[in-house]
Amino acid sequence: MPDLLGMDLGGTKLDFLLAAEDGTFLYEKQYDSPFQKTGKILGKGNSEVLVDTILTHIPEEQRVAAYIDQTEDRFLKEAKKEIGSFGIAGKGASLCGKTWEQEGNIVIAGGNTPMRFASGQNKDKPGIVVMKAKADHPVKAANDGTAAATAQGIYYKVTHGIDPETTAYFILGTGFGCGIPGCDVPAEIGHIPVGFMPKALWQTCGCTAGHPTACAENYASGRGISNCAKILLSLKSPFLKNISPCFGRHAGFSDLSELAADSRISRHAEIDAKTVMDYAKSNADGLAVFIADLAAQVTADAAIAIAQLFGLTRIGIGESVARLNPWHVDNIAKKVADRTRNSNMLVPPLKVELTPIHNPAKYGALSLVVPESQYEIWAKKMAASLHKDLPAGS
Ligand SMILES: [Zn+2]
Repeated sequence: MPDLLGMDLGGTKLDFLLAAEDGTFLYEKQYDSPFQKTGKILGKGNSEVLVDTILTHIPEEQRVAAYIDQTEDRFLKEAKKEIGSFGIAGKGASLCGKTWEQEGNIVIAGGNTPMRFASGQNKDKPGIVVMKAKADHPVKAANDGTAAATAQGIYYKVTHGIDPETTAYFILGTGFGCGIPGCDVPAEIGHIPVGFMPKALWQTCGCTAGHPTACAENYASGRGISNCAKILLSLKSPFLKNISPCFGRHAGFSDLSELAADSRISRHAEIDAKTVMDYAKSNADGLAVFIADLAAQVTADAAIAIAQLFGLTRIGIGESVARLNPWHVDNIAKKVADRTRNSNMLVPPLKVELTPIHNPAKYGALSLVVPESQYEIWAKKMAASLHKDLPAGS
């Protein structure tokens, strides 16, 4: 029986997963990402990463692909030892960055991929070579958001008859991202500016070197929720009172300074997203409710914007902030429904929900090469494992 190989290249981990064509997982293993930071700082303030320290006899621009190639060989040998022989019919790769093909190679450029490893082939569009675009079997690669969206899209197609290209997957975890099946440009939803945000709440963002912005990610993501709480608690009362009218459309309060003065969030040594969201969920802290509602509003506005641009009908939201807070996803969905109720443009109505499949990121790479004849069985498997072994951070 033909088998499929999936590879997931992230900023800290490199995962390989071997599966039968019918979606049965055969063998999986996690290795260090070539881009994993070692903790040391190089000249010019750059962080040292794993491939700065190994394979140093190979030129920098070939080193990442060489490391991935060697690790894949190692994985396949280990797999053979564990499960016996297998045959690879296709290989899918989910990659941490913008992904494209160049001179017979698959190249990436992203926030966690130091460009000193980039190929010198194309000066106008520099990218890091991660693998060859051709092998004995079909090879398909995509940005990790697009790959996860492809897995979710298979489910929507099989169970609801929805065209996958009218669906999107939202990554609502530490960061905020979006993938659309078949769309090779990652929709950088996290960096859509939030127009109504007062400057006091702007934050530094990965998209700009050091200067603060009002990017959606700064309010919608786990990192944003936590930073927002810290900033609001650090601002002086009269100032908070002054900026309160900016949030007029968030009903239920009139003065941020009162919410901050009464808030219990500041009693916590660690002000993380979980602390804020737990208070908001139980309606136990006005400031937490405000921050969660702001996060929901920003996510809903971004969902509407991206749906208008790409003609989307369905958005599934996944990753930690969504998984741990289904009530928050319901709030986002309600805001989208409220604001698009009478839209003539978003027909059929745009629906936003918690992603219906388990861990789309895990199925992402493989879904790029699953034959269409197997979609039905994959959809069942992806949904069936929904409640199984759900790690806290997934
Ligand atoms: Zn940004």
